[in-house]
Amino acid sequence: SLTLPKPKEQRIITIANQKGGVGKTTTTVNLAAALALQGMRVLVIDLDPQGNASTALGVEHTSGTPSSYELLIGEISVKEAIQQSPHNERLLCIPATIDLAGAEIELVSMVARENRLKNAVHEANLAGYDIDFVMIDCPPSLGLLTVNALVAAKEVLIPIQCEYYALEGVGQLLRNIGLVQSHLNQELRVSTVILTMYDGRTKLADQVADEVRNHFGDAVLKSVIPRSVKVSEAPGYGMTVLDYDPGSRGALSYLDAGRELAARTVATVGATDGRGL
Ligand code: ADP
Ligand code: MG
Repeated sequence: SLTLPKPKEQRIITIANQKGGVGKTTTTVNLAAALALQGMRVLVIDLDPQGNASTALGVEHTSGTPSSYELLIGEISVKEAIQQSPHNERLLCIPATIDLAGAEIELVSMVARENRLKNAVHEANLAGYDIDFVMIDCPPSLGLLTVNALVAAKEVLIPIQCEYYALEGVGQLLRNIGLVQSHLNQELRVSTVILTMYDGRTKLADQVADEVRNHFGDAVLKSVIPRSVKVSEAPGYGMTVLDYDPGSRGALSYLDAGRELAARTVATVGATDGRGL
């Protein structure tokens, strides 16, 4: 596929929605793979103790593997935690191991507990990494791991599943993002919303899509991710759908979404405070 122009400065994007199963991890790894295929160097940081992003990217993440856990508690640097995905030399990953499960509590008593990921990523910049995009996959909660991701990022990407109760919890997420903006990271913007698991056969999917577009306007990517078995099968092979079945609808829709994401600038969306949600 065509090579995309590189962003002027590194883009750091947190993929967040405290609801589980909405497609955060699937979107993180497949968008990362799409950008990498299109010439970007992309680092995925797995911040979910489940390690599903690490699994999908085919990187080692058994307990004890240098990971986001050691990075957050300050035992290692980004350089020591980075692995290369076996399927694409431009796709890098800092994995999550089960060791991260305790971090939410361990972090509470640590100095600069909300800034630890940000500080680690900033040090990596200084080390001269040639990374165009950093994509951070969050756990399904609004605890300190997600706060660390929101503080480290410049952009938030919210995946919304085209299902019943799609917007449930999104108001709370936006209010938390607002709190992070006012106290910890003024630069943070909700740059992107992506509709996932869209089933064109149902009226409901269209209703959800309309409602989300009414609320978020241009932040919503035009490319919608269809519900597709290939997308859900790929992680079982340690692959993204772009490697597993490059011609599938899921793969093509993530490629399109990646193109759109690369083309947009951060200031797409103004203040969104979650009113009305
Ligand atoms: P989250 O990270 O928000 O918890 P996941 O990305 O893990 O959500 O997705 C939840 C489940 O839905 C997973 O089993 C995943 O394989 C499946 N899934 C995600 N996107 C799609 C899709 N477009 N089509 C079919 N299944 C999907
Ligand atoms: Mg996940």
